[in-house]
Amino acid sequence: MSTRPSYGFTTTVLHNDRQKNIEHGSPHKPVHNSVTFGYADARDLAEVFQGKQSGYRYGRQGNPTVSALEEKITKMEDGIGSICFATGMAAIGAVFQGLLRKGDHIVSSGFLFGNTNSVWQTCADQGLELSLVDATDVKNVESVLQENTRMVFVETIANPRTQIADLARIGELCRQRGILYVVDNTMTSPYLFKPKAVGTGLVVNSLTKSIAGHGNVLGGALTDTGLFDWSAYPHIAPNFRKQAPAAQGLAQLRAKALRDFGASLSPDAAHQIAVGAETLALRMERESANAMAIASMLEADPRVAKVHYPGLASHPQHALALQLFKAYGALFSFELQPEIDCFDYLNRLKLAINATHLGDTRTLVIPVAHTIFFEMGPARRAEMGINDSLIRVSVGIEDTDDILHDFQQALGN
Ligand SMILES: *Cc1c(COP(=O)(O)O)cnc(C)c1O
Repeated sequence: MSTRPSYGFTTTVLHNDRQKNIEHGSPHKPVHNSVTFGYADARDLAEVFQGKQSGYRYGRQGNPTVSALEEKITKMEDGIGSICFATGMAAIGAVFQGLLRKGDHIVSSGFLFGNTNSVWQTCADQGLELSLVDATDVKNVESVLQENTRMVFVETIANPRTQIADLARIGELCRQRGILYVVDNTMTSPYLFKPKAVGTGLVVNSLTKSIAGHGNVLGGALTDTGLFDWSAYPHIAPNFRKQAPAAQGLAQLRAKALRDFGASLSPDAAHQIAVGAETLALRMERESANAMAIASMLEADPRVAKVHYPGLASHPQHALALQLFKAYGALFSFELQPEIDCFDYLNRLKLAINATHLGDTRTLVIPVAHTIFFEMGPARRAEMGINDSLIRVSVGIEDTDDILHDFQQALGN
């Protein structure tokens, strides 16, 4: 399987399906809505079941339209293979279901997507040991490692405060200790950053966000970069040990998580995600430019107390972001001065929509403490640096002057 795309990012995404002959010259992989797949020779069916020839059996485990998207994501991440899931959370849940066992220790960044935080609490309830650390410094990760540490999990840019994990140093630490390094690349997307470049073994993407990009479809993916040595991983079942070492991780994940728990991506969703992915690079460039314009304007205004955006020189990991990422991304957050009520400000915005979700073509805003981080309570919010007036902004592709003016007029002049 080829690993490095020979074309640029967008060319690869646009033309990957055509690398295999598509019926009638269609540039898109067609949507195959069949749940089952028939064979003229019953012996071929048996060989497919026994893994002696490739082929499809039943829609829950794989489908030609979903496979085409998996290949595209593999190219985008420069990996050796991918599995798609119904949502990003299903992909994260699969890591837990497919690879972790009672008594394992996992280390995770404490600056986390709220639902991932909730999954780790479930893991702890089910007998895993959990250490949540400030992953902006590798020392905090290193200091909690144990004999039974199976996995280190981080996000690239944390939502909503935009802390950036010490990605390269954590990768080096995991490589030295032989620990699986899992990076959730949703906030950066494979266009801005390839976690493989910092030694990641498994990459998580919520396809729902920037990759699909239009807020009209859910999906998730896991990509194996080929860097992790599965032959040394203790929980691979004997059945999957028969495969080449590089294939063992995804083989077990496909069977034990996707097949057994069934959070499969539908062919229609795969098609919509593939269409969205064609413009990922264009959207990320525009969204990053718009985010930079709005964040800079807000930071310069005395009515704004604080702006958190990796593109600003004031951001604690600005230099790291410059070094690692192609641009600074679509997401920032900010706090108004105490005399301005954040709800009043949000209600004065005319274009930005009061809504959850991120990585959309339209600009979305949300008062974080009162909504997406409400469930975790004030103590955990304080640990995560989320105060009551924090507003998260997912910047869209609107014309820059229009969206900049919207945030400016809402300040009240
Ligand atoms: C949204 C998100 C997820 C979950 O993705 P869904 O497709 O909504 O299930 C996971 N990680 C991060 C960083 C996210 O932003």
